[in-house]
Amino acid sequence: MASLSAAHLGQAKRVVIKIGSALLVDKDSGALRGTWLASMAEDIARLRAGGADVVLVSSGSIALGRGILGLPMTELPLEQSQAAAAAGQIRLARAWEEALAPHGQITAQVLVTLEDSTDRRRYLNSRATLETLLGFDAVPIVNENDTVATDEIRYGDNDRLAAQVAATVGADVLVLLSDVDGLYTANPQDDPGARRFDVVDQITPEIEAMAGDAGSGLSKGGMKTKLMAAKMATSAGCAMAICHGADLYPIKRLEQGGPVTWFTPQLDPHAARKRWISAMKPQGVAVIDEGAAKALRAGNSLLPAGLRAVEGDFGRGDPVSIRCTDGQTLGQGLTRYTAREATAIAGHKSHDIEELLGYPGRAVLIHRDDMAV
Ligand code: GLU
Repeated sequence: MASLSAAHLGQAKRVVIKIGSALLVDKDSGALRGTWLASMAEDIARLRAGGADVVLVSSGSIALGRGILGLPMTELPLEQSQAAAAAGQIRLARAWEEALAPHGQITAQVLVTLEDSTDRRRYLNSRATLETLLGFDAVPIVNENDTVATDEIRYGDNDRLAAQVAATVGADVLVLLSDVDGLYTANPQDDPGARRFDVVDQITPEIEAMAGDAGSGLSKGGMKTKLMAAKMATSAGCAMAICHGADLYPIKRLEQGGPVTWFTPQLDPHAARKRWISAMKPQGVAVIDEGAAKALRAGNSLLPAGLRAVEGDFGRGDPVSIRCTDGQTLGQGLTRYTAREATAIAGHKSHDIEELLGYPGRAVLIHRDDMAV
């Protein structure tokens, strides 16, 4: 199934690319690999020209910061790695901006913490920001906010962060550019008989057992974190590729059939999101009128104007059940207002929200992307 790669990438509407520290930063000198970065920028511009949205998850802040602050390549104490991340991140973001600007690409830095995905309200917020940036044709450059993250509250590796970002933005392809060219039956360095998988349709316990864990000197992730990322991405409907990224034009190489392991998505991103929303326990009920019910069935968002009443005490981002006045449950969605706010704006036009609440808010109560009808 070698054609899976070209097909997935060629048809992708939204691609997340994770770039490991070892690709961006020279291990010996600690300097940026400028020529490689320029080739990567060309690859990104070509994907963009083909009509795909591109989000980068770029590591490298700590690796770059070490060089800037004169820190050794050995394990650093927490405060020093946080300081290195702060010094390195600014240079990393500038490097991406300088590489992509000549191709007419706008870059935008997004630093996230683990809580931005575990806390539903913050998750929805970061999702809205990423979506808005993509709407402006920007290329978001995402990294973990390592300067404030401590070990207990961090992803720690950008493989899983990238999978989370892919799920958050509903990407159809995630590419992990790494220092290995895929998943092998055994560690190819120890076992000459090791064979690379072209395609993995199911991540079985046998497959998981094959993932030894050898991160490179600079990056945190090994094959284990990559498999965790694959599970996360594929169950969110996103195909995932692991391929070697250190040579120039890594995406072009992938498109031209270079070595890779592809992980097959379990369903499409849209269906995965609906399933995720439907599976949540509702914290309350939004009772809506006939007109709103019709609008929702036609695939529209729920506006405050269509809301008749509210039951339960829910917060922003919570799942609520959507019920018609005849008692029939229509579906479920994530609300952008608390129960108290929703009660205050029920039946009113969106442009009256600011006057009713005393502060501006979102125009819709439940966005159609956050709804399973
Ligand atoms: N966020 C880390 C950095 O920018 C990288 C984590 C990883 O290597 O996966 O340095």
